[in-house]
Formats: sequence, structure tokens, C-alpha cells
Amino acid sequence: MVTKIINPALVQQVLHTIHNNNNFIITTHISPDGDALGSSLALYWLLKQLNKQATVIVPNNYPEYLAWINGAENIIVYETNEQEANLAIENAQICFCLDYNTLSRINKVKTAVETSNAQRIVIDHHIGPDIPCYILISHPECSSTCELLFHLINDMGFYNTITLNCAQALFTGLMTDTGNFTYNSNNPDLYLIIHALIKKGVDKDDIYNKINNTYTVDRLRLMGCCLYYKMKLYPEQHTALIVINKADKEKFNFQHGDCEGFVNLPLKLHNIDTSILIREDDDKIKISLRSQGEVHVNKMAEFFHGGGHKNAAGCESYYKLGKTIRLVEKLIANKAQYDYTNK
Ligand code: 5GP
Ligand code: MN
Repeated sequence: MVTKIINPALVQQVLHTIHNNNNFIITTHISPDGDALGSSLALYWLLKQLNKQATVIVPNNYPEYLAWINGAENIIVYETNEQEANLAIENAQICFCLDYNTLSRINKVKTAVETSNAQRIVIDHHIGPDIPCYILISHPECSSTCELLFHLINDMGFYNTITLNCAQALFTGLMTDTGNFTYNSNNPDLYLIIHALIKKGVDKDDIYNKINNTYTVDRLRLMGCCLYYKMKLYPEQHTALIVINKADKEKFNFQHGDCEGFVNLPLKLHNIDTSILIREDDDKIKISLRSQGEVHVNKMAEFFHGGGHKNAAGCESYYKLGKTIRLVEKLIANKAQYDYTNK
């Protein structure tokens, strides 16, 4: 059996809350990834199965490679459907906050969530949760929010309520937040959970293909361009940097989510343990950081007021691209500061 990790009193509180309420909203972070969308839709299907009213609200649209997850078509995207989203938030009794630790991560949804009477339940695996809430289930040792949510569902006695839709959504987060089980994936319980989800009918090979092998030609060529022309190496710091500017985006007909995962590619190099990708957007510059071992990239991201996990973090810059690159290069030059290997 899967080891119990959640405080039983909290499990009972969530159980009672679900029993005693009917109208739920589920919120997750901006630029939702596999874990954000997976955990939100898994909880959506669980609540539906329990005959509850549930609405998933995301700050901005999810990438195309996640659109196959059942229930995604019912999600309200705040950016494009503010009125409907505000109404749902206003009418909700309970607001689940999944896969984020601070309200700034939900961008414009923040104001509506703060002014709503809905009580908040946070279920998350990021360190340092600071969302005012009535129930906090925070387990940074979990590799994904989906892993934590499986524990919660199981502990509430709802294992039999997990439908195939729910199981597929949960599996998505387990897989994507561990880089297809290549990092943060040594906990044996993870494989008991996968065992349970496959027994529910999850086709793990099919999900792998849907997420990883559905590139457009433009996207694959952009990847090639990043590796051939754009990747800059800093051998002394064992670090790689890729910058995707607006001209690159135009050249490759860039679609939302097209450079997802590219930041991991330089880590394939034998002498690189840290990789940074800078993407120039219209309104901001997005920076993604990845590392192996004891290089704490979340600490690097803090320079730009971002965060995340030890080996996967992100932040945004509102400086011009040139200045952003210079600042990131400074962080790279000072990398030893963030490397805790011998500390
Ligand atoms: P990604 O690089 O894939 O966008 O994000 C990697 C990790 O960093 C995720 O766990 C995500 O939650 C976190 N992250 C990404 N962007 C930000 C940000 O702007 N602020 C904070 N606090 N965390 C971020
Ligand atoms: Mn996550």
C-alpha cells in the first residue's frame, strides 16, 4: 500500500468540506503545465463523480499538447472569458488552489479569488506556501501536485471514485513534473501510484506520445535552431543559455507552448548541470531554469522575484531583452553561489 503522508485530520477536513458544499472552483497557475492542468482536471472529475458542481479556471490558455486531457474543453480561461470566470468565482463556496504557493502565480485571477467568499484549500508541492487559506496541504517532498492529490483522494477513501478521466489527468502530472520519470522520481510509492492508475485503464505509452511526440514541423525546426545556433555554453560554470527572441518566434510561427521542455535539452551534455532559457514575449520576458544535483535554480530565479523547485524554476523579467541577458549572465558568472554540492 501507498505510505500515508498527509495529516489525517486535514484529510478529514477536506472530506467534510466536500460533503458539505456543492459549488467548487479549481484554480491553478499561469501558463498551466501538465501538473497544473492534470491536478485541476483530476480533481474536477472526482468532484463531478461525487455529483458536485466544479469549474476549473486558468489565468491564461493551456498549451495544445495538453488539450487532449478530457475536461480541458470545459475550462474557463480567465484572460479570454473574464466575466464568466468572475461569476463562477463569486458563486463558489470553496476555491481549490492547486500547484501554486502564492496568489501572484494566478495573475489576474488573484483579485477575484481574494474578494470572493469562497474558502480556500491549498494543495501544492512548492516550498514556502503563503496563500491565506482554511486548509493547507503542502508537501514539497512530492514530485508533483498530482502525486499529492492521489494521496489525498486515496486517503479520503475515494480510490473507487477515480474514473479513467481522473486517472489520465493524474498520470499526466506525475509524468510531466518528473521529466517522464527521469528526475525527482526515486520514491517507490510513485510506482505504486502508477500501478494503480494503469489498473484504472491509463495507457501510459499513449499519454507519453500525446505529450512528447505531437510536434509541428515549425516546433521541431525551432528546437533544431535553438540547439544549433542559439545555445551558448559557459563551460567554466557548466551552464547553457538559450535565448528565443521575437524574430525567432516569427520565423518559426511560434505557438503558445512551442518551446516547452527545450530548457532541458542542454542537460543532455555531459559537462552541463545548469540550463537557462530566455523567451521574449510581447509583455514580458520569461526565464526558465533547470539543473541537476545541488544547483538550486529556484535561488537564482529569486533574483527576478520568481521561484519553483531546486532543479526546476522560473521567473519573469520586465527589463529589455539585452539587459535581461546581461543580468542572467551575471547570475551564471556567480553560479558557485547557488551550487550547494560541497556546502
Ligand atoms: P517553467 O520553467 O516550466 O515555467 O517552471 C518551472 C517551475 O518553476 C515550476 O514549478 C513553476 O511552478 C515555477 N515557476 C515558473 N515560473 C515562475 C514564476 O514566475 N514565479 C514563481 N514563483 N515560480 C515559477
Ligand atoms: Mn507541479
